[in-house]
Amino acid sequence: MDFDYIVVGSGFGGSVCAHRLTEKGYRVGVMEMGRRWTPENLPRTNWRLRRWIWRPGLGLRGFFNIDPFRHVVVMHGCAVGGGSVTYANTSLAPGDAIWESGSWAGLADWKAEMPRHYETAMRMLGVMENRIIGPADRILRRAAEEHGVGQTYYRTRVAVFEGPVGEAPGTVYPDPYFGGKGPERTTCIGCGGCMMGCRFGAKNTLDQNYLYLAEQAGAQVFAETRVVDVRPLEGSSDGSLGYEVFTVRSTMLGGGRRRFTCRGVVFAASALGTLDLLFRLKEKGSLPAISGQLGNRVRTNAESLIGVRVTGSREDLSQGVAIGSGCYLDQYTHVEATRYPAGSDAMGLLATVLTGGEPGRTRILLWLRELAVSLLRHPVRTLRSLHPFGWARESIILLCMQTLDGHIEMRMGRPWFWPFRRVLRSQGPRIPTYIPQANEFARKVAAAAGGTPMSMVTEILFDVPGTAHILGGCPMAGTATEGVVDSRNRLFGYRNLYVCDGSVIAANLGVNPSLTICALAERAMSFIAPAAETD
Ligand SMILES: Cc1cc2nc3c(=O)[nH]c(=O)nc-3n(C[C@H](O)[C@H](O)[C@H](O)COP(=O)(O)OP(=O)(O)OC[C@H]3O[C@@H](n4cnc5c(N)ncnc54)[C@H](O)[C@@H]3O)c2cc1C
Ligand code: SF4
Repeated sequence: MDFDYIVVGSGFGGSVCAHRLTEKGYRVGVMEMGRRWTPENLPRTNWRLRRWIWRPGLGLRGFFNIDPFRHVVVMHGCAVGGGSVTYANTSLAPGDAIWESGSWAGLADWKAEMPRHYETAMRMLGVMENRIIGPADRILRRAAEEHGVGQTYYRTRVAVFEGPVGEAPGTVYPDPYFGGKGPERTTCIGCGGCMMGCRFGAKNTLDQNYLYLAEQAGAQVFAETRVVDVRPLEGSSDGSLGYEVFTVRSTMLGGGRRRFTCRGVVFAASALGTLDLLFRLKEKGSLPAISGQLGNRVRTNAESLIGVRVTGSREDLSQGVAIGSGCYLDQYTHVEATRYPAGSDAMGLLATVLTGGEPGRTRILLWLRELAVSLLRHPVRTLRSLHPFGWARESIILLCMQTLDGHIEMRMGRPWFWPFRRVLRSQGPRIPTYIPQANEFARKVAAAAGGTPMSMVTEILFDVPGTAHILGGCPMAGTATEGVVDSRNRLFGYRNLYVCDGSVIAANLGVNPSLTICALAERAMSFIAPAAETD
């Protein structure tokens, strides 16, 4: 065998598994479709589309992916270190109620088991309470107070190396987390650039902790390598003799096909990546026994992205860490103050005036009316709010998430506009396009800041919300008729196949999911015996 385990994807789930498996004495290969990023090759702003967006067929080889579906626009990461390169560092544990519903309810004593895995994940990711409060956080606090929920305002917990109060930012420390085994870190300068990748060595991305330690211990990471097939080795249909894994070079059209053999495989390619791969493996007969539940109960974390643009703001709203603070509008609805770094204005192209109303044609008409009214009342301010340049410096993005249930389904199909290829498609009843409480709060924030509340244009024109937190699709359950993996993340129907990423999450968490993905992967790996104890 080339490896004991091959891990597909090097994001949160994949990096945890790579580290824990090498620690247990296994030979591990990590296949990662994205590129390896360092402070030197990260783009300065997101106008450098070639180094920001991932669409290799068009020559775009960045770390940020946008996939539009009929029900939702999904944003996700693609890099060595997965979504951690582009994520906003916020690492929150959800409330206990999430374990009581969804397909995982009753499969384990989650409330007793999970706290220790969250603890471990927080320690490994270097999570701390954010100390760098920027102007956007202060505005959020004022708006929360005016909205009557000031007591719920909090500083986020972030996977960032922030220095002690009073010390100059940008100070270099030898490894502060792993007793000297980890890389040196530099204290955060609060530039708000986390979602463009940290160029200052302060963000605790996975290639600075879990994946770093795995590589130090011998794991081999294959960047720009996409897994396209996984088959049981000849002689067994359930994989008990091992697997062959086929890869291609993701940045070279149709090139670089390779074959590896291994004893087991961990699928950790993110909710979308794992669904896409498992559907293809089931359909082409490589892993035909995968449960028919695949693609069911995909969740968007009941999310809505809105914002406020303060044209001509005297303060630079991009200062701070990417998500510095949050508050709760009610027991289900959570809002975080989010930002891009000054100069990274490309996302401003998706912003338009905030619009409520019923989805569909009437909402488009309402939007046109809101736009006309805004243009008549404040022509200069409205035109400046729609202009992308200066957007990051002048904007607060409000990331709103709910714990309310709601899900869609994903299946493979041929899109009408490109029937030559089967791709993932969303189906099922629509999910809410926007959250009325969040829209109302955006108006409060706008009033507190003297700005204009904004929506995403895709939400209004195409009736689809945006999410950076796509979850589910490989439901965890007691049997293969109810789910795709068991309570220890083992794929039903096969030996030594695991799914450890966002696809196994069985609830809308209402908080950012990466910590929960890590904690569940920690738990799944804790059940695997060390190599020395197995034959
Ligand atoms: C802009 C942005 C900001 C975010 N901010 C936060 C935040 O503050 N806090 C938080 O908790 N979450 C945040 N998220 C979400 C978070 O990034 C994801 O929930 C998390 O990364 C998912 O982890 P994962 O292990 O499921 O997969 P990922 O971290 O997405 O990793 C999967 C990896 O698998 C690779 N892959 C896919 N298919 C294949 C294949 N066939 N072969 C090889 N490799 C493959 C992908 O390239 C990717 O690198 C944010 C997301 C975005 C886009
Ligand atoms: S705020 Fe700037 S320095 Fe701090 S972690 Fe984010 S990108 Fe790095």
